[in-house]
Amino acid sequence: MYNIAVLGAGIIGVSTALNIQKQLPSARVKIISEKFGQETTSWGAGGLFRPSTKYIGGVPEEKIRKWSRTGWEFYSSLAVSDKAKEAGMQIVTGYVLSQTKVMNPVYKDVVYSFHELSTESKLKLGFGHYNYAYIVTTVIATVKDYLPWLFERFKENGGQTEQRRIDDLNELVGMYDIVVNCTGFGSRTLFGDKSIFPVRGQLLRVKAPWIKNFVYTEDDAYLIPNGDLLVVGGCRQENNFNLNIESKDREGILERCFKIFPALKGAKIDHEWVGLRPTRFPIRIEKEVIQLKKGPLKVVHNYGHGANGISMSWGTSIDAAELVKEALLGSKL
Ligand SMILES: Cc1cc2nc3c(=O)[nH]c(=O)nc-3n(C[C@H](O)[C@H](O)[C@H](O)COP(=O)(O)OP(=O)(O)OC[C@H]3O[C@@H](n4cnc5c(N)ncnc54)[C@H](O)[C@@H]3O)c2cc1C
Repeated sequence: MYNIAVLGAGIIGVSTALNIQKQLPSARVKIISEKFGQETTSWGAGGLFRPSTKYIGGVPEEKIRKWSRTGWEFYSSLAVSDKAKEAGMQIVTGYVLSQTKVMNPVYKDVVYSFHELSTESKLKLGFGHYNYAYIVTTVIATVKDYLPWLFERFKENGGQTEQRRIDDLNELVGMYDIVVNCTGFGSRTLFGDKSIFPVRGQLLRVKAPWIKNFVYTEDDAYLIPNGDLLVVGGCRQENNFNLNIESKDREGILERCFKIFPALKGAKIDHEWVGLRPTRFPIRIEKEVIQLKKGPLKVVHNYGHGANGISMSWGTSIDAAELVKEALLGSKL
């Protein structure tokens, strides 16, 4: 029986732990993490399935398409099942607005539908200040429901948890057959990876039950229904580590979003949130053996998903779990 530690309890850690249990059912899997649930970056994300190559550098497009397809199969099958509500998956139709033609995005042939709107429809909908508008039917994961749902599945399979911050990898040597690194931005200090950088985002969650569709633009304005709240964002600030809510960012977000959806004006703010997208080009999914003072440590990494962590979590976690299996079974040969 293998002893496996997964570091990190965000969407990547929990999805990876669950996929390891699927691939190695007799393994003992423990999630060790400093933060759980609403304290993670994953908790605040919009959860729109709209994977984009724009914010993923250095990964072959074919791989992104594969992660998109495997993720989609899982999310969409949940969204059409009787578990949809408890798992936080909803099918939503909305609009992607752009000044340039959106050429064959990776999600185009994956999601339920993707069509360009005629100029007449675009004008009728009030999107005349964009050159192109698309109507898209996809899935949204409301992470405050989806993450706990995944976590329950992990615990049902016998998964263990430990709340603890790891400051020195030597603490783990000799304790586990393999350690799986899903610490997101934490990899910068724990693994000394300075190539991971933050892309700061700020958003609001408002009560606007009259808005049922999502709207996503490529110039930092989006509306994403999340259960009974509506996510209103956003911004993308590279290498900004600031976790405080800034009023000038709020003003900019509201100004941009009122312009695309004036009906938003009557909405009451429920809360605001800031997160740092853990960005690395490429996303790191690989295995290595790290030589430490106390001995060698087998590690599989899965981190650096940037703006696509919810969309890509299931697909990349399957690959990471395969690497864990390969690393462990390889050593027994
Ligand atoms: C404003 C905003 C909007 C977003 N919207 C979307 C969206 O619509 N769609 C989408 O696909 N993605 C979206 N994202 C991106 C998504 O949120 C991230 O890519 C994803 O959450 C990354 O998940 P993660 O598990 O790697 O990181 P995290 O959720 O940050 O989890 C990291 C875990 O590692 C633990 N950890 C770190 N260091 C240590 C340590 N030393 N010891 C122990 N534990 C440690 C932490 O405590 C935490 O549990 C958005 C992000 C932001 C900021």
